[in-house]
Amino acid sequence: MKYSNSVEKLPPYLFIEIDRKKKELLEKGVDIISFGVGDPDKPTPKHIIKACQKALLNPAYHQYPFGAGLKSFRHAIAGWFKTRFGVTLNPDTEIHSNIGSKEAIGHFPLAFLNPGDVVLVPEPGYPVYNSGTIFAGGTPYFMPLLEENNFLPDLSRIPEDICNKAKIMFINYPNNPTGAVATKEFFKEVVAFAKKYSIIVAHDAAYSEMFYDKTKAPVSFLSVPGAMDIGVEFHSFSKTFNMTGWRLGWVCGNADIIKGFSKVKDNYDSGVFSAIQEAGVVALKSSQKCVENARKMYKQRRDVLVNGLSKVGFKVKKPQATFYVWAGVPQGYTSAQTTEKLLTEAGIVTTPGNGMGKSGEGYVRFVITQDVKRIKEALERMKKLTW
Ligand SMILES: *Cc1c(COP(=O)(O)O)cnc(C)c1O
Repeated sequence: MKYSNSVEKLPPYLFIEIDRKKKELLEKGVDIISFGVGDPDKPTPKHIIKACQKALLNPAYHQYPFGAGLKSFRHAIAGWFKTRFGVTLNPDTEIHSNIGSKEAIGHFPLAFLNPGDVVLVPEPGYPVYNSGTIFAGGTPYFMPLLEENNFLPDLSRIPEDICNKAKIMFINYPNNPTGAVATKEFFKEVVAFAKKYSIIVAHDAAYSEMFYDKTKAPVSFLSVPGAMDIGVEFHSFSKTFNMTGWRLGWVCGNADIIKGFSKVKDNYDSGVFSAIQEAGVVALKSSQKCVENARKMYKQRRDVLVNGLSKVGFKVKKPQATFYVWAGVPQGYTSAQTTEKLLTEAGIVTTPGNGMGKSGEGYVRFVITQDVKRIKEALERMKKLTW
């Protein structure tokens, strides 16, 4: 079978590969402890489920939802955004519902790219920035995220001709996989850069609520002066409310950018199931206690894992946000060798850093979606390894 050039250009989808390997070992009866895929282990809070159950009985919701999303959904987002970030959004023009962030990020470049256009893509990073660019006929230019720069891209190192050809810049903070948080100063730098070269900034804020120090809660890119002129921000219910299976998110920001994106969406999908949007309304408008509790839980897991890893040969710091621990591998090993050893000798699944971009070489990614008891068990197994 001859597939399209775009499909031929895609790297294998990393997490599907990892999942396959894991299943193979499970079938052999190995007791696997997985720190592989970024998917919360706890169920969706009950009040959110109940809201959906009730909404399911509304016959109007059994028909095509179409368009930007329920008015109530967009108003709930605007209210939440104002409270959380101090940013005012117009629910009619500056917010659009998405079937999760993944499809939205993947489809986004289709609205803005012509052949030969460049998209600035962070690496290591979420694979969809690259694949969405390829499907839209664009060319990715990779911006390395290095520890010495606090995992922020160094915009001054992007060549002038690339800046001139760039149409979109993807950024993602709090960051998957490094756990880094962006400063407001960095966002200001991005706004100035984007304005200078007429680049659309697409900020993926899927982890905005997964942070550990309330006094250092991540800011919205849109809260920086001028950002609304050139940018949008993608948000998702997946990580914040344990809703990865539901497929619900939104994009907000500059009205012209949202309008262009909606032209693509109108031709690819017919909106988000309204009963799920109703669940989203309740998630945003109810007490955020469940989010607070999740933070406490992840913090405990993070501390146990990071303290333990630093005693078994990894070079690792506590992330300020996200449920990822980005650990420097033991001396003399590559990312792939480390992942392989952890899997075959200890039954532990991790993601090799280089699988998410070449600057990820020398790291492995742990997702803290195991309870403390299992994390301790994993650390016991790691103590027995010789490197
Ligand atoms: C998990 C994740 C998302 C969210 O994806 P959904 O499609 O909304 O589930 C977006 N961006 C990054 C970087 C992620 O890790």
